[in-house]
Amino acid sequence: MINVDKIRADFPILKRTVHGKPLVYFDNAATSQTPQVVIDAIVDYYSNYNANIHRGVHTLSQEATDKYEQARIKIQHHFNAKEAYEIILTAGTTDSINRVAAGFASLLNTGDEIIVSALEHHSNIVPWQMLCEKTGTILKVIPMLEDGSLNMEAYHNLLNDKTKLVFCNHVSNALGTVNPIEVIINAAHKVNAAVLIDGAQATPHIKPDVQALNVDFYVASAHKLCGPTGVGMLYGKQEWLEKLPPYQGGGEMIATVTFEKTTYAGLPHKFEAGTPNICGGIAFGAAIDYLNSIGFDEIAAYENELLAYGTQELLKIEGLKIYGTTKDKTAVISFNVNDIHPYDIGSILDKLGIAVRTGHHCAQPIMDFYKIPGTIRASFSFYNTKEEIDVLVAGLKRAVMMLS
Ligand code: PMP
Repeated sequence: MINVDKIRADFPILKRTVHGKPLVYFDNAATSQTPQVVIDAIVDYYSNYNANIHRGVHTLSQEATDKYEQARIKIQHHFNAKEAYEIILTAGTTDSINRVAAGFASLLNTGDEIIVSALEHHSNIVPWQMLCEKTGTILKVIPMLEDGSLNMEAYHNLLNDKTKLVFCNHVSNALGTVNPIEVIINAAHKVNAAVLIDGAQATPHIKPDVQALNVDFYVASAHKLCGPTGVGMLYGKQEWLEKLPPYQGGGEMIATVTFEKTTYAGLPHKFEAGTPNICGGIAFGAAIDYLNSIGFDEIAAYENELLAYGTQELLKIEGLKIYGTTKDKTAVISFNVNDIHPYDIGSILDKLGIAVRTGHHCAQPIMDFYKIPGTIRASFSFYNTKEEIDVLVAGLKRAVMMLS
């Protein structure tokens, strides 16, 4: 059972006020807040052992290297990757996807097909479009249905022996709907296509097992997981990471360099050119430890309670429509009230200390599907409370009255 008062005490930011009101932070799908243990890990790094990694013989460098590599192992265990070197530390989900897309540019040919879902964040659309422009590969789209799920029949019909890669999010950031990634992965493998799953929204709520999923690539961002911004992970099956060429050239990713020929380092360094976000990687590991100390089953159970309560209370508001109504959802409620512009409601809520996201949530195709400019998105985390949901509902009623 979650002890929410105890958990809230771990997050210094939750004590602050906004416009004189206690902060109600419901923008967790954009970024999560940071517990003191993660802040402490950042301060400890810069206070005590700030040094470049992997190449120094001195103590500070060795300490930093050990902590950074320990973080990689924590991430490996968390996602149940077979090997630590299958975890590439990146700048985040966007960066991870771009690294894979850049690699596939040398593996794909004109007329090959790749499949995207209609529910993607722009960061899982645009890099692939850029790849298609370069290679002449054809991008096919799995259509979505009214409830925010994917049209799986259409997906099965899209797959054929020209399909080389399928990419889809585990959970939609705009709607919170959970996609049937097991089915997506197994069906893709039947035609020998690789699969990349964007776990940016899933990982704060679900602990994925990349071996059980048999997924080829799984990507996520630390900042959605109570970690810092600018760091994330790319899990890739060893066989795929070996097939892909290096992403960037530079220090750290080489074995030997002469002007005639350079040979590349093995995994994971082949994909980690330059000085990485050392402190960020270490803090990512601390964030994973923190979340596991609470427990993902406990987190999911509590957030589901918040989702059920929030859905029930918001639907009491006349004219409120929720987008994304599948049974299997994480704690995200995306909605509009009548035809009031989401931005106007969001601005009034901010004056009341309530942080929600308004707009297209970097998923314009979903908004086009519903023929709306955007939604208001309230996304809950395990440190939120039902009382805060009551504050949102009261604030929303006030905003609707002012704007109607
Ligand atoms: N995919 C999804 C589903 C997301 O929610 C996000 C972040 N909103 C991203 C990708 C991009 O993550 P980042 O900005 O951390 O690279």
